[in-house]
Amino acid sequence: MNFLDELKKVCGKNLLTKKEDLYVYAYDTSLNPEKIILPLCVVFPKNSKEISEIVKIANKYNLTLIPRAQGTNHCGATRPSENCIVMHFSKMNKIIEINKENLTAIVEPNVVIGELNKELDKLNLFFPPDPSNLAVSTVGGAVALNAGGPRTFKYGNTKDYVINLEVVLADGTIIETAKNIAKNATGYNLTNLFVGSEGTLGIISKITLKLIPKPQASFVTLAYFDKLETCLNCVNNIISSGFMPSTIDLMDNQTLKTIENFNPCNLLTDMEAGLLIELDGFEKCIQEEMMILKEILEKSGSKKYIQAKTKEENENIWRARRSAFSAATQLKPNVITEDIVVPRNKIIDFVNKIRELSKKYDIQVLIMGHVGDGNIHPHFLLDLENKREKMRHEKLRNELYAYAISINGVLSGEHGIGNTKKKFLPDAIDKNALDLMKKIKNLLDEKNILNTGKTI
Ligand SMILES: Cc1cc2nc3c(=O)[nH]c(=O)nc-3n(C[C@H](O)[C@H](O)[C@H](O)COP(=O)(O)OP(=O)(O)OC[C@H]3O[C@@H](n4cnc5c(N)ncnc54)[C@H](O)[C@@H]3O)c2cc1C
Repeated sequence: MNFLDELKKVCGKNLLTKKEDLYVYAYDTSLNPEKIILPLCVVFPKNSKEISEIVKIANKYNLTLIPRAQGTNHCGATRPSENCIVMHFSKMNKIIEINKENLTAIVEPNVVIGELNKELDKLNLFFPPDPSNLAVSTVGGAVALNAGGPRTFKYGNTKDYVINLEVVLADGTIIETAKNIAKNATGYNLTNLFVGSEGTLGIISKITLKLIPKPQASFVTLAYFDKLETCLNCVNNIISSGFMPSTIDLMDNQTLKTIENFNPCNLLTDMEAGLLIELDGFEKCIQEEMMILKEILEKSGSKKYIQAKTKEENENIWRARRSAFSAATQLKPNVITEDIVVPRNKIIDFVNKIRELSKKYDIQVLIMGHVGDGNIHPHFLLDLENKREKMRHEKLRNELYAYAISINGVLSGEHGIGNTKKKFLPDAIDKNALDLMKKIKNLLDEKNILNTGKTI
């Protein structure tokens, strides 16, 4: 018997080996790799027992395993490595339980976040992390990347909503990291070790999430400024005023223009910046907070603002913001989305640096991001077939990362490290901490078979 015969015994028909099928799994949302590597096959396990059997086969034949959900990550976290099996979780997409009393949900990894929230909505419950592509991306992908999104300012990242995981380790052992319980200080926090581990420490087969009651209402304000600096100063004025918006998101002039060209929705494209502020909670409180916000915006120099009064107006503003990435892809063949976080009091310096480097290297950029958290997502537009442009972009990226690190920033707040930022990790974190991470990886995956070539 060879490895394929053994896999067939476990997976039956849930196995792909045809070249034309394998090509689909050679890519993810990150840019095309220099070298296209096809997996040896793709498997679709139905439960943790099958995952465990597959892991044992990979061990026996010295093959690597690439866990993959929808492949929408921006960091090459699901790119195949040599001699790999891609493990796709599309057969594990059930919501197992929603428990209103305990405020928990137990789900399989491939449950799509938007679908989960539709079910939670019916019970007035809420899972706040929103990787801005929630119609597609999965809970498993969000857990493995510790994804965030526009609401992290108030609600935190995915890690704040994971209370227990079932994980298949690299030798096939199945563990539960904790219990399905809201509060737990019993032993090491293994749950958080696996959250954000990008499939490199274990394969997540079941997830217990903490839920919160759904806010009664939410309203969005879109404020415009004729100077980017005025807009960024306004962020601090909002935060220091004592209330807690769920979202404070920035769109610079290029972003506003690009969205408006792609999807006309009456954005003011002659303004240098727009700030999307969402307030949520009890409707009466929001009405009051909207009045205070209005005053802050006027005092801070906002030239015009729109406060949504209906669900439709809310949706329109959100639709515009969510279409930014798709809009950017209309302008150039390649869009590189960065995910840098800087201390809030350095945002202006960082944004100025992005503009300076964009000019210096002649690479167009759209600047947007979750500025409430200091999380900036510049979208660089280029054509990677153009070798000179590619080289200019590489230089730009090196300088941008070095600058971010010099002001105590980090290279990812929510998209992860994957394969595309791995080489920068030694410059970005404490050396002793990196050594410890390597030891943890070695301990949990001695043969380095799990998502080989990513993160560590
Ligand atoms: C247009 C757009 C906007 C975005 N905006 C945001 C944003 O605002 N905030 C944000 O946080 N992110 C954002 N993202 C990125 C987002 O984090 C990812 O798209 C999403 O979380 C990945 O989900 P996925 O289901 O596609 O997982 P994949 O991309 O398939 O996988 C992601 C990682 O999880 C691992 N993995 C998947 N399933 C498992 C499993 N069962 N066990 C172990 N490891 C597993 C994979 O190996 C990989 O390392 C955006 C992406 C796009 C395309």
